Amino acid sequence: MQRHHSLGFDLETRLRERERSGLRRDLVPIDSVDARARTAADPKGEPANFGAERLIFASNDYLGLAGDPRVAETAVRAARDVGTGAGASRLVVGDTSTHRSLERRLATEKNAERALTFSSGYAANVGTITALAPDVIFSDALNHASIIDGARLSDATVEVYDHCDADALAQRMAERFSDGVTDESWLVVTDSVFSMDGDVAPIEALCDVAEEYGAWVMVDEAHATGVYDGGIVNERGLENRVQVQLGTLSKALGAQGGFVAGDETLIEYLLNAARSFVFSTGLAPPAAAASERALALAPDRRDALWTNVERLRTGLEALGYEVLGDTHILPVLVGNRDEAVALADRITEAGIVAPAIRPPTVPEGTSRIRLTPKATHTDTHIEQCLTAFETAMTKGGCP
Ligand SMILES: *Cc1c(COP(=O)(O)O)cnc(C)c1O
Repeated sequence: MQRHHSLGFDLETRLRERERSGLRRDLVPIDSVDARARTAADPKGEPANFGAERLIFASNDYLGLAGDPRVAETAVRAARDVGTGAGASRLVVGDTSTHRSLERRLATEKNAERALTFSSGYAANVGTITALAPDVIFSDALNHASIIDGARLSDATVEVYDHCDADALAQRMAERFSDGVTDESWLVVTDSVFSMDGDVAPIEALCDVAEEYGAWVMVDEAHATGVYDGGIVNERGLENRVQVQLGTLSKALGAQGGFVAGDETLIEYLLNAARSFVFSTGLAPPAAAASERALALAPDRRDALWTNVERLRTGLEALGYEVLGDTHILPVLVGNRDEAVALADRITEAGIVAPAIRPPTVPEGTSRIRLTPKATHTDTHIEQCLTAFETAMTKGGCP
């Protein structure tokens, strides 16, 4: 006899609901991570579009190091000499010299005593925040999902402050303090470069506020690692005021993994208490080796990236587009969500891949195209991108 004691999972309905609210996503296959790659513009693989070669302006591989033959060679050598996988948690038998060498290099890069790698930036955030187990987390309104998930899992009280607003943080802290709570551990968490707005957190002002109350500051440099020398925290000389520096190996360093840098005690504690470190296999040695090589090569790639960023920003503004932010991420403001999708479709027709970012990812009325040039885009690639935006415009798009 079959008993029905559960509703089961009606995933078809859940997918339809996502579809209705515009949240349904699809995979878009490409054949390489190169700036120029074959993509299926239509995720359903319409024969007319499938396999067309397009220029990708949507990657976080900002320096083009994921396709660099020198980095690839280093990864191959590590696979051959050390192993394709770590084989175990770092705490069991997965702690290879490749890991330790990378961590020494990361500590130097971040001007910190020590660093610890995780299997992803996501795992680094979730593991670090839960291990710190703060009573209260003060979190920027636009922080990355992995920070939000870490905060949820940590059971902390979360106080969300207005985006990049140190005065709003001060106000939140003052309110909590005047409620008479004085024996809590407080953690301020922020991205350094924000992925959807291309702007930078006021880290020094956040440190000023945090220090007034004895709170710790944790900065997630996922989009800045490799692009800014030592990250924004170091560029601004704030490494002694930021207790937790976090980053990813998966973006500008072109590999895979995440890391935390800080003082000896922090790292020693995390390797004991961060569950995403303890209960997860060590970073794959080829990824660790590739990251270390990428760190060495990154400085030589930065000029080419910034040249492309400036050329693209200036060109788009000359066409009348409004480009947000002040970093290597170029959000082209459209406003209306349907117009943003239409513009993304038109530039795709012209051979450029860049996503339309809509609510709920960004506030209503601020839909945009998120453009990310790479160091490896050529002058011709940048021209093609600008031409696509110009053509889209004459076809009745924005501005
Ligand atoms: C991408 C990103 C992460 C996650 O890093 P992965 O290595 O891709 O898991 C964490 N934080 C921020 C701010 C990010 O942009």
